[in-house]
Amino acid sequence: MKRLWMGWMVLAGAALLTAPAVARAQAPAAVSVPKPGYPRLTKLAPNVYGYEEMQSIDRGLFSTGVMFVVTKDGVLVTDGMANPTATKEIVEAIAKITPKPIKWVVIGSDHGDHTGGNDAYPAGVTYYVSPTSKATLEKEEASPRFKPGSWKLPADAVVVPDRKTLDLGGEQVELMFLGPGHTGGDLEVYLPKERILAMSEVYLNDVFPAMRSATPTEWLATAKKALALKNVRTYVPAHGRIIAGPQSRADFEKFVKAMAYVIADVTALHKKGLTVDQALAQVKWGPYESWPMSKQQGQIAVRRIYMELNGELK
Ligand SMILES: [Zn+2]
Repeated sequence: MKRLWMGWMVLAGAALLTAPAVARAQAPAAVSVPKPGYPRLTKLAPNVYGYEEMQSIDRGLFSTGVMFVVTKDGVLVTDGMANPTATKEIVEAIAKITPKPIKWVVIGSDHGDHTGGNDAYPAGVTYYVSPTSKATLEKEEASPRFKPGSWKLPADAVVVPDRKTLDLGGEQVELMFLGPGHTGGDLEVYLPKERILAMSEVYLNDVFPAMRSATPTEWLATAKKALALKNVRTYVPAHGRIIAGPQSRADFEKFVKAMAYVIADVTALHKKGLTVDQALAQVKWGPYESWPMSKQQGQIAVRRIYMELNGELK
């Protein structure tokens, strides 16, 4: 185990030396890690694909993914990667499938590991963004920590407050805000014909629920709402394995259960009257102890759940 881990550290270190610095000021340290089989392309429908790249984020090793839809007029992509080099690889993977241009990009997550590379998308693409994510991105751009030359949300980005149905080259696409999730501005993309729902960071497959920017019970409610959509056959996560069909629903259900477990577990400690430090020392994650990021994200989850229970997140 140790040897394997050391091997990953060396690989991650090597990638760190060659990868450009993460573009956006708020971006977590997402580093592309070479792994056999990645980047991985998964066909979800005749014209719909999942694309994953292995990354190391905050010492957790798991994939970051996007979905793309090929229509007769162009290509729609959900999200991007942490830096232009990684996002350029998405552009190149799409070019191997179709000569159609990338025309539309949906910002499902406004976090840097999904937007930092957006400059690699062709100039003039239309971005779709929720009002909350737009405000978050603009706040970051105005911050003194914002790195000059980094990608900025274009002024003509289309704001989707709630729901928007689009006909893109004959493909019906529904953009939906089901409620605040991992980022607060989380936008989903539904393809009714293929019954596919791209969840962005509302769904982290087999990755410990990362609550740093979430209101925990709101995220859980949003995920439950998505799980209750009976017409969905395929749920697409922003991190972890992308697959098609009923197994993807089972996997998503497992993630929703994990989130419910984490919230119930910490709420019980709060109810017992434990201080946050006592809760941090005592908390156990049961079956989720072995999930990537459980150490770092578990501590953050305790703090966030305590903050919500104490009314400090409003
Ligand atoms: Zn992420």
